[in-house]
Amino acid sequence: MQYSNIVQRVLELAQQASEARDRAARQLIEQDLRVFLKPLKAAEIYMLATLMYLGLEGGSVAGLMDRYQQMSDTFGTPERAIDQMLTKDSLHKHLRKSLAILESAGVEVDALLTTHIDSPLALLNSSDDVELSLGPWRCDQCGQAIAKPEHGLLQWLIRSKDGHGTGRDLRIVHVNHASPLGLPNGCGPDEREEFSRDGAGLSDVPLHWMLEPDGLVRLLSFVEEGEFSANEVNRIIMRLLVPGYETARPYFQKAIDAGIVELELPDDYFYQSQLGDIVANIPKLEK
Ligand SMILES: [Zn+2]
Repeated sequence: MQYSNIVQRVLELAQQASEARDRAARQLIEQDLRVFLKPLKAAEIYMLATLMYLGLEGGSVAGLMDRYQQMSDTFGTPERAIDQMLTKDSLHKHLRKSLAILESAGVEVDALLTTHIDSPLALLNSSDDVELSLGPWRCDQCGQAIAKPEHGLLQWLIRSKDGHGTGRDLRIVHVNHASPLGLPNGCGPDEREEFSRDGAGLSDVPLHWMLEPDGLVRLLSFVEEGEFSANEVNRIIMRLLVPGYETARPYFQKAIDAGIVELELPDDYFYQSQLGDIVANIPKLEK
């Protein structure tokens, strides 16, 4: 029997029990419910209890498998879980509410005990306990962390022609004295080589300055002047100023592939709740 049919049948019987005329009628229906539940697999029973508590206590689908684990640990036997469910007068209401939660999260009831239980989605950590912060930033040259703003630079190359600047290679890199690559150029380019390529000169600004309002205004002026595209500048702005962005950034594609987040905005644009979901699940995404 498909799991959604099981849940549906439990819901119907629980509703009938709650609407019974008197105690005797109610007990008869509860007996039916018990008879229906008894031959089910332990996992099916524990999942029913999990759904009941999801509806009762609220919460998100993200914590569902932790809750499931708790149920099987707490009750120890399916019989105890059944007893517990039957003590709840509003079992049908809790189940209905939890079905609504699953639906709004796009989770199929039938997948709960099959694909879902093994999928990364089923094992999601909750983002509730994650605090998103700015930095550390990842150096675009050496790939190592820039532990504090004083260790970093925003760097770019720009060439001018007829009063108009054209920029390239807008990057966040280590400042020379903090670069793991060492002197002479650290994580920056060879200025002479770059100049001989297309006449571009090197510019940079300390990362801590870029985190201030003036830094934001400077970046916006790049777009205004047409020196860099909005595509490049916006991503740098998010890296600098959106909490959690730089930590989650290496995992964007994996998180989408695993179903942890769905892209609601253009590529690389995520809301705080989505970044929280990604950051909370980095240990799983690294596996
Ligand atoms: Zn570096």
